[in-house]
Amino acid sequence: MLLANQKHIPMTKEELWKLVLRELELEVSKANFATWFQHTLIADHADGRVTIGTPSAFVKEWLENKYQKPILKSLRLHAPDVRGIEFSITSQKAAPTTKSALPKPQEEQLDFRELYVDKKTNLNPRYTFENFIVGTFNELASACAHAIVKSLGTLYNPLFIYGGVGLGKTHLLQAIGNKLKEEQPAKKIYYVSAERFANELVSAIRNNETPIFKDKYRSFDVLIIDDIQFISNRTSTQEEVFHTFNTMYELNKQIVFSSDRPPKSIQNLEERLRSRFEGGMIADISEPDYETRLAILQTKASQKQEYVPNLEILEYIASVVRSNIRELEGALNTVVVGSKIKKRHLSLDEVKNALSKNTKPKKILHAGQIIQLVARFYDVPEKYLFEKTRRKEVVRPRQVAMYLLREDFNGSYPYIGQKFGGRDHTTAIHACVKIARDAKKDERLKEELKLIREQLYEAEK
Ligand code: ADP
Ligand code: MG
Repeated sequence: MLLANQKHIPMTKEELWKLVLRELELEVSKANFATWFQHTLIADHADGRVTIGTPSAFVKEWLENKYQKPILKSLRLHAPDVRGIEFSITSQKAAPTTKSALPKPQEEQLDFRELYVDKKTNLNPRYTFENFIVGTFNELASACAHAIVKSLGTLYNPLFIYGGVGLGKTHLLQAIGNKLKEEQPAKKIYYVSAERFANELVSAIRNNETPIFKDKYRSFDVLIIDDIQFISNRTSTQEEVFHTFNTMYELNKQIVFSSDRPPKSIQNLEERLRSRFEGGMIADISEPDYETRLAILQTKASQKQEYVPNLEILEYIASVVRSNIRELEGALNTVVVGSKIKKRHLSLDEVKNALSKNTKPKKILHAGQIIQLVARFYDVPEKYLFEKTRRKEVVRPRQVAMYLLREDFNGSYPYIGQKFGGRDHTTAIHACVKIARDAKKDERLKEELKLIREQLYEAEK
């Protein structure tokens, strides 16, 4: 009989889920809760089965593997008819996560912790998952980072995380290391920048100590290499990365890389290394949108001890500081420090004034800067761009430089043609039209243009 089953007060799906979430929130860490349970819901509840809707395949998989039991347990507590659960992807788009409940690190302590690194692992303990804010812009990278901690060496190897400057790559990579250090203290973990790796290699070669170098790197269970784009062009370093990677890979040891661009856009990268990078998991961190920037600022502001700026100020910062999270932090600090000096909150006008350095309208770029950066990006000598050569590796960079001169510099076609070795203005038109057209369908080109522009406007500050 229906009535017999309804001894419990009828509860809507929403109410039931709310109760479950309230309980789970107490059981899992705040960062985990924010990452995995935001935007979940009960999509269906019938005949003793509950379907839990998740915002993405990633979250679905994660909840299935990791939280199945506690979810079921909690569900049954409130709805004893539930016998099983399943997970589905609901199409609702996740909004940026604001984690007001993040732990409050002591801001004053952070300052000198900034420079501290643990000798054995080379990790800085200030970068943790707990203080890493997750939003749609970095959701995938963050999920992957959490995932490899649980399935070291087997799930995603290598894990390759890429994204522009100041968007949290180093933070995330180090958080992986710090989490592992805490959870699996027996593992040998090592964090190194690709630049330092290369320097160590060079000095090992010079001192006839390559075997020591090799042994060192191959002894790690987890190797985290930051800013791997640095090795483009460096043949011997690439060789060593390749061999180290192969050795470790065969032993199921985990490698994590970060880069400012995807493997396919790293110039002069050996094909076999590229395919190794692409053989694991590649996750990008994109730029946070306005809402996310505001959420990040709110979280960071809530960690301040005093003179926490009000919402109007934070909104202003979020609207003018668009480049990256490092700049957001910097702007927030400027405002707080300004308050400390004046011993009172700053007015909006004072804030505008204090930030005018960070937010001044885009400086007019010099044509030379654009050309230089494009040449460096594609790793061709600048002078080739001005010469008549039609070699493929030069033609594309030259066209890109012409396109950017037109688009971002407002150069006239005759001027651009002239600039590039006295070419005719029709050549300039052709180049600009071609790049504009190609960028619509060529993902790689689109990505390259984005990266070049990022560097262009970053360099400008
Ligand atoms: P990248 O290595 O990509 O250039 P970093 O990891 O150095 O960037 O990040 C720049 C600054 O922004 C650091 O102080 C870092 O702690 C902070 N940051 C970046 N991403 C986040 C995030 N998702 N949550 C909290 N802080 C972040
Ligand atoms: Mg970095």
